[in-house]
Amino acid sequence: MLKKVEGIILTETPSGDSSRILNILTREYGLIGVMAKNVKSLKSPLRTKTTKFTYGLFYLDYYEQKLSKLTDVDIIEPFKNVRQDIILLSYVSYICELTYQVVKQNYNYTIFDDFIATLKKIDEGFNPLVMTNILEIKYLDYQGIGLNLDCCLRCGSTKNIITIDPDEGGYICQNCYTNEPIYNAKIVKLLRMYYYIKINSITSLDIKPDIASMINEFINRYYDRYAGLYLNSKKFLQELVKN
Ligand SMILES: [Zn+2]
Repeated sequence: MLKKVEGIILTETPSGDSSRILNILTREYGLIGVMAKNVKSLKSPLRTKTTKFTYGLFYLDYYEQKLSKLTDVDIIEPFKNVRQDIILLSYVSYICELTYQVVKQNYNYTIFDDFIATLKKIDEGFNPLVMTNILEIKYLDYQGIGLNLDCCLRCGSTKNIITIDPDEGGYICQNCYTNEPIYNAKIVKLLRMYYYIKINSITSLDIKPDIASMINEFINRYYDRYAGLYLNSKKFLQELVKN
């Protein structure tokens, strides 16, 4: 059946000398496998439109149980700035790999919308670390390991929240506090903002680098403990940003 779907390429693997197999995250159907025949030939108009994080309308000969076949692509957004910057490219590679792992577990169209909105913000020049962390926090729910950021995770109180426990994943109030690490009040508040903010609505981000990096450490620690994902693109990104 011929279909036109909005989607973004999350992975591409070579098939023979001239073709590619794509995993496309589509808004409507979630993840689908697509055969892109002969697109690696220099003459193919689809050669540059079948690479990672191409965001467009994909024209497919659609099959539910096997690989669909790609017939054409109309680019929706080229993300030109990201493609010219090795650091941004590394963030986006990581986000693509993370999204691929998340949608393999669970799909909801809000994942697609948040993912695309994040890429747009990174391409527009918003801090890529903060944008990545916002998406990572939002993705926790889809992995069944969401943070509790509305009240104390032990007693349910909304008053006198003094820290967030990176091991249990939620707020701790003064009464329930034992010996959890104390995070700066800004971090405690910002984590909640990251979780609830609508990415499309972000017009400015005023987060100091040391605070952004402490939030990143918190999220890394939580992901390492609960998500069980070991992503090469993440290791690469961490090495790159460190230097
Ligand atoms: Zn409490």
